[in-house]
Amino acid sequence: MNIKDYCYDGDRKFSPKNFNTADTAEYKKKRDGSVRLMENLRKMASLQDKLYAENKESVLIIFQAMDAAGKDSAIKNVMSGMNPHGVSVHDFKSPSSEELEHDYLWRANRALPERGNIGIFNRSYYEDVLVVKVRQLHRFNLPSRCVDDDIFKRRYRQINDYERYLYENGVRIIKLFLNISKDEQKARFLARIENQEKNWKFSDSDIKERTLWDQYQTAYKEAINATSTSYAPWYVIPADKKWFSRVLISEIIVNVLEDIKPQYPVLSKEATALLSEHRQQLLNE
Ligand code: ATP
Ligand code: MG
Repeated sequence: MNIKDYCYDGDRKFSPKNFNTADTAEYKKKRDGSVRLMENLRKMASLQDKLYAENKESVLIIFQAMDAAGKDSAIKNVMSGMNPHGVSVHDFKSPSSEELEHDYLWRANRALPERGNIGIFNRSYYEDVLVVKVRQLHRFNLPSRCVDDDIFKRRYRQINDYERYLYENGVRIIKLFLNISKDEQKARFLARIENQEKNWKFSDSDIKERTLWDQYQTAYKEAINATSTSYAPWYVIPADKKWFSRVLISEIIVNVLEDIKPQYPVLSKEATALLSEHRQQLLNE
């Protein structure tokens, strides 16, 4: 598996039509990928420990997807490879009345991970160029001078500027679009309806958003192509097979953490000498 095959950093275009959502790379079955997944989760744990100790770079992982693509379970899986201390998950739902009183990046900015931490965004400011675009929600609270046909083009630019700013200030951004097919979404919705234990996962709005499938596909395509950059690339994850999406996501996160090369801080000579003194003191007790 080569993560470059799934990476969009501005050099090529993402086209939903030509994307195989059921791709599993060289893995045939879940079992084939599980060894790699376990290895990656172990590596993630050790790299995260160093990232936290070094306390310099932070990592922002953005999950975007159509409903039932497996965001929640993918996040749960990623979290299982990390020390909860130093990781946060933030869900972006319909904005609250307080959030609507501010610009669309305000709530995201408040939820950014601290240095040395990993922050996971379950949905993100990308909703402001996805659901907001598809449903034309921006018309409700902006002054007329800001609302014209170019508003989303401007937002793509603003997002690129914002992500560049974050990158230049110590935040690594990993953007994951879990891409499922319309048929797979139907199967998962039916399972949520037919299996009582899964009923709670289903909401009326899921069916309403599904009727806008094509509009969402276009919105994702435009947003991804306009915001694929070298400093904040998109990864489009084939998500029809949940087990494969987990292997690929873990591979991407490990790759970025390895690229950061976090190191345990090396103590100064004085601090090391002090440690020896403390050690001796304890042994002498
Ligand atoms: P699940 O996959 O379990 O349904 P979810 O992420 O869809 O999880 P929900 O509580 O069902 O969680 O939905 C959150 C909803 O909030 C989504 O429909 C999303 O489009 C919507 N939302 C997020 N941000 C915005 C925004 N800025 N404006 C309007 N709606 C938003
Ligand atoms: Mg939902």
